[in-house]
Amino acid sequence: MKPSARRLSWLLAWLVCAGAGGGWLAMNRLAELRADFDTDARIAHRVLSQRMVQHDAVVATLALLQPANGRGEPERLSALYPQIIEVLQRPAEGAWPPSAAAALEAAEAVSRREKRAALASEDLSTGRYWLVLASYPLSHALRFDLHAAVPWSEWPMDPATSPVRAVLHHAGQSFVIQPGRFSPGALPSWRWVAAKTLASASQPLELVLERPVDWRELPLAAMAGWALAAALLLAGLRMLLQQRVARQRAEELLRLGQVARLNTLGELAAGMAHELNQPLTALLANTQAARRLLDEQPPEIATARDAMSQAASQARRAADVVGRLRRLVERPELTAQAQPVALSAAVQEALHLLEPELQRRGIGMDVEGEPDLPAVRAEPVALQQIIHNLLMNAVQAMEEVPSARRRLHLRWQRQGGQAVLSVRDEGQGISPEARTRVFEPFFTTRSGGLGLGLSLSHSLAEAMGGSLSLAPADGSGAEFRLLLPLA
Ligand code: ADP
Repeated sequence: MKPSARRLSWLLAWLVCAGAGGGWLAMNRLAELRADFDTDARIAHRVLSQRMVQHDAVVATLALLQPANGRGEPERLSALYPQIIEVLQRPAEGAWPPSAAAALEAAEAVSRREKRAALASEDLSTGRYWLVLASYPLSHALRFDLHAAVPWSEWPMDPATSPVRAVLHHAGQSFVIQPGRFSPGALPSWRWVAAKTLASASQPLELVLERPVDWRELPLAAMAGWALAAALLLAGLRMLLQQRVARQRAEELLRLGQVARLNTLGELAAGMAHELNQPLTALLANTQAARRLLDEQPPEIATARDAMSQAASQARRAADVVGRLRRLVERPELTAQAQPVALSAAVQEALHLLEPELQRRGIGMDVEGEPDLPAVRAEPVALQQIIHNLLMNAVQAMEEVPSARRRLHLRWQRQGGQAVLSVRDEGQGISPEARTRVFEPFFTTRSGGLGLGLSLSHSLAEAMGGSLSLAPADGSGAEFRLLLPLA
């Protein structure tokens, strides 16, 4: 995964965490507010309903007692019930005062028919209405003021500060009990409504409560705190993981280094054996010739012959030792240890190991592999070693190139019964003289180079039944091709 994609996925993880936690906090707060609202709505409905039942009781009592001077009573009644602002009586043959006659007559007719008090609405928006009860000899009408009818001592909300709007509706008219604090930040979708008709047959006013929810009522501090905590948590986790990956990478590099050192030793011994064998053979031939010459003339012929033959046998022994050393360091057959290995996975692993190096040097990557290439037969560590060597060489070859032009091209694909991995760089390239010698042990053009990487990789590739070659030069850079048999 690219570093930018990795960063993006961490960011996404944080967003999901912060969103889920913040959402949970917000939902909790909303649920709390909703429960409060529902409770307030239930209490408001109950206390107002009780008031209406009380109104029924007052007018029923008047009808029962039939006080002859009922009209004169409002002062005394109002002292008891401040919401009653007027009391009217109509004798059997009398009439209601002309100002309200029509409404009161209609309500009285309903009252007579339904055998209960009936409501005669005036202008409900002012909070005024009549309650009429038909009876004999006197029918009664009480005029109420809703402002005084609301039992404020039992009212569950503070009308001045509560965000809830409470309204009574009847016959298309409405009376506002409390306006509610409608804030501009309230989201239209967050508005709870509770509507219920008061439990009174004579005064079936509908109580509607509306509660807008302002985003500022959400637990913003807690939500921000959680988002911050999640960020810190994830950052810690990321750091831990990064440390682990770095440790694994260091261990892997160390292992590769150890393998490389072992292999280098073998290569060194092979070189030494090669270098030593020739002079030793010459020494042997010379001493044999010297012995023949000594045989012709000196007085100490026997001793000299002995010495010479001893030298000869020493030299032979040395040659034997070298021969044994050479046999010892001959590369073991790797085909026996070969197993199916996914080439793409081996390449990714090598790239992963070198990722910090590639990043530090600003080397662009261009990786393209045949997606369903079958596995190759290889010894996994040897394959790692080869790819690692090729990549390191490519990286070093681009040292002198301006960083904007540093680019590594990796391709793998099938080629007959084999897979070919090509590693191409845009470095300084390889001179025609060097091209014939790059796979020789100890050939190097780098100061501090050992000149063993390519020769080792070459023999490893062959030991696995594959090959490593230099592609024909074209333009800038160098391209190496590793061929391996398919599993
Ligand atoms: P070393 O890296 O220690 O020199 P190698 O065997 O890996 O040993 O490489 C031998 C030589 O081959 C290098 O010194 C360099 O001159 C040449 N060489 C290898 N790879 C590249 C490359 N990608 N571009 C240019 N020259 C290269």
